[in-house]
Amino acid sequence: MFEGSWRSSAWSELDRQWDAVVIGGGITGAGVFRLAVQLSLKTLLVEARDFSFGTSSRSSKLVHGGFRYLYNRQYGVTYKSVREREYLLKEAPNLVEPLPFTIPNYREYDFPSWLLHAGAIIYDLMGSKWDHQKLDPDEVLSKFNGLKEKNLIKGFRYKDAVLDDSRLVLRVIQEAIDRGGLALNYTKADRLLRTGDGKVHGVQVSDQSGEIGKTAEVKAQVVINATGPWTDSLRSGLEVPKRMRKLRGSHLIFDHQRFPASEALTLFHPDDGRAMFVIPWEGMTMVGTTDIDHDARLEKQYDEPFCSQDEIAYVLKAVNFLFPELEISGKDIVSTFSGLRPIISGGAASPSKESRAHEVWNEHGLITITGGKLTTFRLMALQTIREALRTAGIEKRAAHGLPMIDSIDIARPDDVEKEIFDYLSGRYGRRTGLLLQNAGQGEFEKINGLPNIWAEIRHAAGSEAVLHLDDLLLRRVRIGLLLPEGGKEWLPQIRAVAQPELGWSDTRWDAEEKAYLQTWQTYYSPWPG
Ligand code: FAD
Repeated sequence: MFEGSWRSSAWSELDRQWDAVVIGGGITGAGVFRLAVQLSLKTLLVEARDFSFGTSSRSSKLVHGGFRYLYNRQYGVTYKSVREREYLLKEAPNLVEPLPFTIPNYREYDFPSWLLHAGAIIYDLMGSKWDHQKLDPDEVLSKFNGLKEKNLIKGFRYKDAVLDDSRLVLRVIQEAIDRGGLALNYTKADRLLRTGDGKVHGVQVSDQSGEIGKTAEVKAQVVINATGPWTDSLRSGLEVPKRMRKLRGSHLIFDHQRFPASEALTLFHPDDGRAMFVIPWEGMTMVGTTDIDHDARLEKQYDEPFCSQDEIAYVLKAVNFLFPELEISGKDIVSTFSGLRPIISGGAASPSKESRAHEVWNEHGLITITGGKLTTFRLMALQTIREALRTAGIEKRAAHGLPMIDSIDIARPDDVEKEIFDYLSGRYGRRTGLLLQNAGQGEFEKINGLPNIWAEIRHAAGSEAVLHLDDLLLRRVRIGLLLPEGGKEWLPQIRAVAQPELGWSDTRWDAEEKAYLQTWQTYYSPWPG
């Protein structure tokens, strides 16, 4: 689909009558898009920036019940999330992978061990399995190099799951396209179209890629707002009260050699007792997250959220409280990233006390799906589709049980290592065969020892709707977050593989490279802002 002049041919189709238009190309929009297409609805998805540009590429990368939500008494959210985790572990092998977590309990924490143990039991019962363990201090210490020994009372081990969030979005969208859906990135919904009696019956969209330079009126039986933290912007056209609270969460990424973590660890911040995670991810160690109100002025001034110096200090304090021997400092940070949680405001004083539940609203025929978590995207899509069918007056169609991820039945070629094949099949699904087939000489090599290989760069550049270099290096592959200075040193090699696939002139490449390094410096570097 994303080859040659795909964007202009896609634009030439916009004036047809659509059954459904989905606005927002994060995981929520992707899930709804996929279900709608599978129910044989003629469906268009528009994304203002890049697919997964919003929160869905900036999460903690966990498919989890949210152990900590138990302590906030959000039992419903935890239960549904644990069930979805089990579903995704089964349906998306090699993309969603089991990840053991240890919670070390320290005297300073003020958490009785029985309470943590009870949490681990409830968590397992919700997932219909028995997978947690009690650990004595020596067992905990043997798992984590440099972990604080003083005042360690006990530990608990439970299992959740980890994934590449952006690749999940891309797989869900691409597999829906393969079934006949149309998805356009860099296409913004500017305003809702309404009938004389005020009912929403379409949306005006504008090209943001610069390749088309047009606007279009798109008519649909039903319009679905899946714009995550930006939910209220689109709703403002309906003169309804704002309901969202944007909560920023930031992570720091460290080199695994400097800060090793082969399993995940749950910790409680020494200042406020908030739960945080140390997570092994893509060969690196990721620590987060913060949870603070995002200042509206920052959004006006900056194109993307970024991790403030206060947040960096807050995360480093937690790391050094638990791993004092490692003496981790700002100099050890490889990259940072920040996202905005789409939270339906319940007026809680503390951001972390706000519910992570999702809701579906029908306002003048505009269906809004918001809140929730990446983990629960399937449930969110199911509920949205039911409401969408009802609103559009389309007869009920059974959506439950439809796959959200396609199974893969490609044989591994002899010259591709199993570890690499599994990694690719999780991230590229049925397109893995194409990726391997198009790989050039030496492109099964790993990029600087990361799990990524060079053939991914070729594939993504040629077939995955890349418009700018940051689409390629931050969202199709994640090496912009994993290599020092966003991969600056590797740019000549990346160029050799990607430029011919992208069809960019030397002038265009140079401009993209400059813009990418500027974006990285401002929003993803150890010294953002
Ligand atoms: P988004 O991903 O933000 O997508 C909305 C999209 O809409 C954006 O791409 C945006 O560009 C687009 N858009 C906006 N306006 C328009 C317009 N007018 N026209 C067209 N497009 C538009 N959940 C988990 O399950 N596990 C986790 O580990 C986890 N960790 C998290 C950590 C952090 C720090 C944060 C912030 C969130 C975390 N979450 C986690 C929550 C999860 O990431 C979000 O709930 C989820 O990604 C939201 O997806 P979305 O599609 O609703 O929003």
